[in-house]
Amino acid sequence: MLASLCRKWTRLSTGNLKPTWKLVNGDASSTSRRRTARGVSSGAETIAKERVDTVVIGAGVVGLAVARELSLRGREVLILDSASTFGTVTSSRNSEVVHAGIYYPPNSLKAKFCGRGRELLYRYCSEHEIPHKKTGKLVVATGSSEIPKLDLLMHLGTQNGVSGLRMLEGFEAMRMEPELRCVKALLSPESGILDTHSFMLSLVGEAENGHATFSYNTVVLSGRVEEKKMHLFVAETRSFDEGEEAELELIPDLVVNAAGLGAQAIAKRFCGFDQRFVPSSHYARGCYFTLSGTKSPPFNNLVYPIPEEGGLGVHVTLDLNGLVKFGPDVEWIECTDDQSSFLNKFDYRVNPQRADKFYPEIRKYYPGLKDGSLVPGYSGIRPKLYGPKQPQVDFVIQGEETHGVPGLVNLFGIESPGLTSSLAIAEHIANKFLK
Ligand SMILES: Cc1cc2nc3c(=O)[nH]c(=O)nc-3n(C[C@H](O)[C@H](O)[C@H](O)COP(=O)(O)OP(=O)(O)OC[C@H]3O[C@@H](n4cnc5c(N)ncnc54)[C@H](O)[C@@H]3O)c2cc1C
Repeated sequence: MLASLCRKWTRLSTGNLKPTWKLVNGDASSTSRRRTARGVSSGAETIAKERVDTVVIGAGVVGLAVARELSLRGREVLILDSASTFGTVTSSRNSEVVHAGIYYPPNSLKAKFCGRGRELLYRYCSEHEIPHKKTGKLVVATGSSEIPKLDLLMHLGTQNGVSGLRMLEGFEAMRMEPELRCVKALLSPESGILDTHSFMLSLVGEAENGHATFSYNTVVLSGRVEEKKMHLFVAETRSFDEGEEAELELIPDLVVNAAGLGAQAIAKRFCGFDQRFVPSSHYARGCYFTLSGTKSPPFNNLVYPIPEEGGLGVHVTLDLNGLVKFGPDVEWIECTDDQSSFLNKFDYRVNPQRADKFYPEIRKYYPGLKDGSLVPGYSGIRPKLYGPKQPQVDFVIQGEETHGVPGLVNLFGIESPGLTSSLAIAEHIANKFLK
């Protein structure tokens, strides 16, 4: 029975991928009563139960980087994602910027992982022929009242070890970028852009060549801590709408919860996990508009204003095809139900009316922006650990030393610079949590 379930599961979830997971202790008799953990039916039927080595929940850029790293270090990794393929949520809805590491408090995880992650990412992109470009970036002060904030960024960046930072007078910056208007600018030559999809595809390939197996269309419904071990209850995504019936119980030695916007919702469903360790979720949507009607991009560098609350300000990002986009803005949205965060049922529509706010913001540093040139682009949602008017919060990476559950690593609040940091987060997890 178990074998046929696994075969069915593999076929349904992974298409032509190799068999789903290594059976450590599974046979048809190792079934369990349906668990009564939150979110799982407590019916009388039994479900299959399997021991596995490592489970990564979430095939976004962070989950993929972790899966690749662990599989390269010899672990058998099973990656579960509720979507039909990798990278469909925040990892494909961002600015695709390789951040230098300027903005973050010194010694924070964001500062540490951004710096290390940037180094690793540029090296990875070069070695694996992932399209990328060190464009450089200008953070601009458009009025004298903003100069102290620019000075502070210079100071932070220097403390964070970002190399090559240089303060430019307005005329120097405008000589570099004739369309720009500013009174002073901070030049960050280390900043750049990359093709995130190619990067993720490469991570998937490397993970698969190692010891990793992907199971898409597979939702983690809940879990339970039993005798200091995590048990996960999973089901096919398509059955989730019909009720939360777990179809399989997995008992991994190591679980990495990299579920992005859904990470807290999952942890809240871990029966026996001390809920004091689950931080509250806050979501901030960011919309992008693209520039139409220009033959060539108005800027060669990325151009950022002084950061605003909740984001880095409506900035200019270029992609590798020369498309110019402006954004993301910050719109705090209500945290929704678990199902929305598990199945990515968020509203990503970009209201064209938001352009009314973009034009004046952008014209502060790009006065030549023509009326009618902004076209609604896309949006993404930041998985934040703080809300409006609250102080910023660092990434949270929690293992047994924090919450007391062996073999469970939770990643919470992996907002920007999560893409830049992904390889460094993976390295950290492998160094710290592999026994
Ligand atoms: C607007 C915006 C701009 C950004 N710009 C940048 C930038 O320029 N540079 C930068 O470094 N960073 C940037 N970031 C941050 C970066 O995009 C994120 O930090 C990164 O993509 C997070 O990756 P992730 O793998 O943690 O999450 P995700 O990509 O969200 O992946 C999580 C995965 O978990 C899956 N999942 C969720 N719940 C379940 C469940 N119950 N069962 C199974 N699977 C589940 C989802 O389907 C999803 O695939 C930006 C973010 C936003 C929102």
